[in-house]
Amino acid sequence: MNIDNKLVVFCGPSGAGKSTIAQKIIREIPYFEFSVSATTRKPRNGEQEGVHYYYLEIDEFEAKIANNEFLEYEQVYEGLYYGTLKAELERIRNKGKIPILDLDVKGASHLKEAYGSDGLFVFVHPGSIDILAERLKKRGTEDDRSIEKRIRRASFELEYANKFDYVLHNDILERADKEIAEVITNYLKK
Ligand code: ADP
Ligand code: 5GP
Repeated sequence: MNIDNKLVVFCGPSGAGKSTIAQKIIREIPYFEFSVSATTRKPRNGEQEGVHYYYLEIDEFEAKIANNEFLEYEQVYEGLYYGTLKAELERIRNKGKIPILDLDVKGASHLKEAYGSDGLFVFVHPGSIDILAERLKKRGTEDDRSIEKRIRRASFELEYANKFDYVLHNDILERADKEIAEVITNYLKK
């Protein structure tokens, strides 16, 4: 297996289940490590610097943009930047591991252009916007305004579903976990 340029990207709307699915793969398949993004959003309760995100002020984020330190970045929600630092992927690759990324659909599209068939790009589909709203409410990490922002963006994100290598229907989590484990095992054999 040649891991040099491999990477796995999960994209899709907030609340679809991307991080739940990615974390299970990381726990169970030793080749992977989560790529920690930089963001200007504030940490949620329980989130940790360097584990969930690198939390930056807007001027710090913009300085890194100017310095060409991002592989990709997007203003996913108005006024909130999210981006993948080149140094983060290097950190993971230097350990001999394959990065797993959790990105919005635009960031994922840009990386797909850059990586082509070296990467595996998976769109996680929640089924419907109603299901998404229910999951976001149950997750309990967002206030009403933040949930509304995420739901407003979700229909835009769902339009991108077929632009990636694989659509993972995350209806029943255990089933989706099994399905993606198989897809990833095949990808690793490439
Ligand atoms: P994302 O990373 O895409 O924003 P999360 O992984 O945080 O989404 O999942 C959103 C919420 O939905 C979490 O509380 C998670 O436990 C829950 N969840 C994920 N997949 C399912 C599923 N198939 N059925 C029910 N709940 C799910
Ligand atoms: P959240 O605020 O819920 O953690 O993330 C919001 C959205 O930002 C999610 O759709 C997530 O996939 C996306 N996101 C997280 N990190 C990055 C990143 O580095 N780049 C891009 N383009 N999107 C990201």
